[in-house]
Amino acid sequence: TQATLANIKKTETNVNAFITVNDDAALAQAKAVDDKGIDATNLFSGIPIAIKDNILTKDILTTAGSKMLSNFKPVFDATATEKLYGQDAIMIGKTNMDEFAMGSTTETSYFNATKNAWDYTKVPGGSSGGSASAVASGEVLAALGTDTGGSIRQPAAFNGIVGLKPTYGRVSRWGLIAFGSSLDQIGQFTRTVRDNAAVLNIIAGHDQRDQTSSQREVPDYTANLTGDIKGMKIALPKEYLGEGISKEVKETILNAAKQFEAMGATVEEVSLPHSKYGVAAYYIIASSEASSNLQRFDGIRYGYRAKDAKNLNDLYVKSRTEGFGDEVKRRIMLGTFSLSAGSYDAFFKKAAQVRTLIVQDFQRVFEKYDLIMGPTTPTVAFNLGAKVEDPAEMYMNDVLTIPVNFAGLPGMSINAGFSEGLPVGMHLIAKHFDEASIYKAAYAFE
Ligand code: GLN
Repeated sequence: TQATLANIKKTETNVNAFITVNDDAALAQAKAVDDKGIDATNLFSGIPIAIKDNILTKDILTTAGSKMLSNFKPVFDATATEKLYGQDAIMIGKTNMDEFAMGSTTETSYFNATKNAWDYTKVPGGSSGGSASAVASGEVLAALGTDTGGSIRQPAAFNGIVGLKPTYGRVSRWGLIAFGSSLDQIGQFTRTVRDNAAVLNIIAGHDQRDQTSSQREVPDYTANLTGDIKGMKIALPKEYLGEGISKEVKETILNAAKQFEAMGATVEEVSLPHSKYGVAAYYIIASSEASSNLQRFDGIRYGYRAKDAKNLNDLYVKSRTEGFGDEVKRRIMLGTFSLSAGSYDAFFKKAAQVRTLIVQDFQRVFEKYDLIMGPTTPTVAFNLGAKVEDPAEMYMNDVLTIPVNFAGLPGMSINAGFSEGLPVGMHLIAKHFDEASIYKAAYAFE
């Protein structure tokens, strides 16, 4: 823990991956593990792990990247962090993120942008850019993140590491600051596939406090990492290599497909015809859910409270005006509008219908195939600041990841190569609760 803290101190000047480094508390936790004696059978005993700052950590600042929560210390732990502590992992700090997880570059954070671990002039992706950069720059072995439309997989791709969004319901969302509740999922970043599976073993499972968490048993995700994928049936959707996908990304993914075939898997082209409507539908559904979830930040119950309010209504308005950044306000307005009586049928209802079509596309493909592969992102990491002025262009970043959240499927990004020194991510998608197939293929590929 001491060595990790020293390394974080050095590396942070370049990457700014953390909002809070947990110096003294982490050392105290490490000492308690030392006093008890390191348990050699426990992989996590004394291992520092970073947590995205929208996942509650008791008595430790949890800001969700927002001024609104810049003074918020939770009174309880999220289930996922509690489970890691239960294994004697050390909570080394809280990582930077787009405000309330809304963004694709970690630039909407109230706490300054994080940098890509491979090139400090590039974005790290987002919204879990802090967690991805912390792992890729060698600050920590593993970090938790969250994924509503791609926020684990896209930063994993931009930083060349392994990031998994588990099946919706696989990991409890208790203690996660909600964004889009029908889409949100906690997951993990690591440098290797085996480490990734080991973290999922700990954080997965039913939780009475989250009624959407699944009762299904948690298998040992490290058990089938044999390198043998003979006979595996992999689908490659033609839409994932179409318009808007850069030439280098496309070539890298086609090469990866060849590698899978060389290992005895079959790779065949399929179609997911409705995926092109995903981004439009997502920004209505996710924003609608966010407009409801973010009502609780009113200056009374949590966080930031504006000074000099004239009355209660003025206090709400001023606190929200001053406490939220532009992107969060944009989403609240879009969501409130889409849900309003006059617009509901034309916007929210339509988006929900599109979501169903996207879900059915996946169902059809998974009748015949074990896995879907493709690129995680249309391009490699771009320059900091390049897309901040153009929300619509920013939103297109998630065109390949959003459909997976709509369907609640598990998805991983794993490094598939480099283009001009920047990592290219491969996206692997499986059936509900079949993370094991993703791990199997990713391990063979790694
Ligand atoms: N970039 C997407 C958004 O801004 C996804 C964010 C996420 O997955 N939390 O909504």
